[in-house]
Amino acid sequence: MPRIVLLGPPGSGKGTQATAIARALGIPHLSTGDMLRAAAKAGTPLGLEADRYMRAGELVPDRVVLGLLADELHRPGGGNGFLLDGFPRTVPQAEALGRLVRIDRVLSFELPEERLVDRLTGRRSCPVCGSVYNLTTQPPKDPARCDRDGTPLVQRADDRPEAVRTRLAVYDAQTRPLLEYYRARGLLTPVDVQGSVDEVGARIANALRDVPRG
Ligand code: AMP
Repeated sequence: MPRIVLLGPPGSGKGTQATAIARALGIPHLSTGDMLRAAAKAGTPLGLEADRYMRAGELVPDRVVLGLLADELHRPGGGNGFLLDGFPRTVPQAEALGRLVRIDRVLSFELPEERLVDRLTGRRSCPVCGSVYNLTTQPPKDPARCDRDGTPLVQRADDRPEAVRTRLAVYDAQTRPLLEYYRARGLLTPVDVQGSVDEVGARIANALRDVPRG
């Protein structure tokens, strides 16, 4: 089964596309952001430690994220194909990942920087069913409620403007160097992620058409 990494700045639509790609390829979608938010919600010591960094838009220390991810990969069948979303975010994380498993492909989501802020600050989600909307690009019928179950929508603490600025700066300083890291290893495929969710999905399917499926 393929082992794929999604790289891209916050707001480039990784989470939205990841769900569809993982379903199409029959591989688990592993989002370190989702794992950390679940740990924070559950109030575990690790989750509470992570929450402080997440709210500020800063990266959670490598040892915390690596611990969570290693647990996932060490489950039965855990390393047999996956879609990683939000990991790695630093060169040391990429090096640690490379020691754990072989990666088949890294998709780099490419979007002009000025579009990212609007996409992040407009994001709203349903705390019950997890549906994600965007007030400009994918608006719910009622701007305050979930289309599926009518629950009042919420904004992630780190999608507020101040945290968004920090996240974009952190991406530039710590995560962008991974583009060169994976390009040098012949694993990087850039994908233009402007346009509708379906248009982008079709470009991604095309970019993955020769990835090993076995
Ligand atoms: P995301 O949902 O991918 O945007 O992640 C939300 C937040 O979780 C990030 O801003 C970081 O604080 C934290 N986080 C997620 N993945 C990682 C990672 N690989 N390394 C460090 N922090 C992470």
